[in-house]
Amino acid sequence: MTIGSRMVRKIILKQSGKRSFHGNHPWILEHSIHEPGTKPQVGEVVDLVREDGKFVGRGFYNPNSRIRIRLFTWDPEESLDEGLILKRLDRAIEHRGGIGLTDATNAIRLVFSEADQLSGLVVDRYAEHLVIQLTSAALQPFISAIADRLFELYRPLTISLLMDERSAKTEGLEAQHRFLVGRPSEEYVEIQENGLRWTVDLAGGQKTGYYLDQRENRLAATRWIPKKARVLDVCTYVGGFALTIAKYCETASIVAVDSSEKALQAAQKHAEINGLVERLEFIQADFFDFLSDQVDGGHTYDAIVLDPPRLASSREHLQRALAAYHRLNYLAIRLLREGGTLITCSCSGRVSRPEFREVLKGVASRARREVQVLEERAAAPDHPSCLSCPETDYLKCVMARVL
Ligand code: SAH
Repeated sequence: MTIGSRMVRKIILKQSGKRSFHGNHPWILEHSIHEPGTKPQVGEVVDLVREDGKFVGRGFYNPNSRIRIRLFTWDPEESLDEGLILKRLDRAIEHRGGIGLTDATNAIRLVFSEADQLSGLVVDRYAEHLVIQLTSAALQPFISAIADRLFELYRPLTISLLMDERSAKTEGLEAQHRFLVGRPSEEYVEIQENGLRWTVDLAGGQKTGYYLDQRENRLAATRWIPKKARVLDVCTYVGGFALTIAKYCETASIVAVDSSEKALQAAQKHAEINGLVERLEFIQADFFDFLSDQVDGGHTYDAIVLDPPRLASSREHLQRALAAYHRLNYLAIRLLREGGTLITCSCSGRVSRPEFREVLKGVASRARREVQVLEERAAAPDHPSCLSCPETDYLKCVMARVL
């Protein structure tokens, strides 16, 4: 097939690989296609066809990635070019308009990769600063057009480009972080979320600097914290749940734990700039060690938040991850007094909602306690999920009372 004057190479989907694209899933893995004799180059546009020649979709090929093709369109008449990428970018941003920024929150995810049919592209806005995160090598040639469009729309002080080590490795690239527009005058930029002040390290934080996906869950959690509670926030990062609870709830004490010294320094700073240092304690520790020690020491809490990092990064790690979630939640439940609140999260896209629920059911049964679910939540609405790509529904957040 030709698009304009260009020939588009056809890649044949194995009959047995049919299931992987069922429902327009954008990822075509290496084992599901017949590799051509000479492989297309990184970012080359290819057509995926069935063995009988029928068109499936059009996408970018990457010979270095396990995700060999990222499909962008399932319409044989639609060209895959800068025009389409910018059209999708505009659409993603327009949809975020309805979510709206307020005086209390000025940080938002503008583009969320597969969920916006822009596989491999994330754009976060932190007040007057934009961060583009690439997880696909194929989109590199479009970065300057994307940055130009973002500049036109927002006139931000800075636009930075980030490719983390992990994505770089899986895509066969070098990790990078550079400013495409401007340079921040301070090392940290300040944002507002839920009426609290936070600082974001654009150059060296986790993810794009902050976990925007938990914004609404942090606030929702405050509803379930009993009065005068002794609260434990496990994996606090820069104080997310701990500080939101400290601001909105009348608590007796809040202990917040993380393994990252740098994150805890930021958390301490956030407690100071928000006038919330009293009743807050930050502890650097591994969550398993900390929780086991607390159980051994006979400690109890009235509310516990568990927000561990992604424990399952691939299907092969699923069983191990489920076992880790089990262990973590079991320890937490043992620390909760009767009727205490458990806010437990999983951000592993590979772990489905039913699987996570099953873990909690197993934990409850082993601990001989009942888990009364109050709310089951997902990522904030600026991180939508697409039904054809279940991995986009990655964040599970169960708020429960443990009887
Ligand atoms: N709750 C946070 C986000 C947590 S992200 C918020 O609301 O923003 C996961 C956190 O787990 C990271 O800060 C990371 O440093 C921390 N972490 C990773 N491995 C850990 C471990 N073994 N023990 C304790 N913390 C860990």
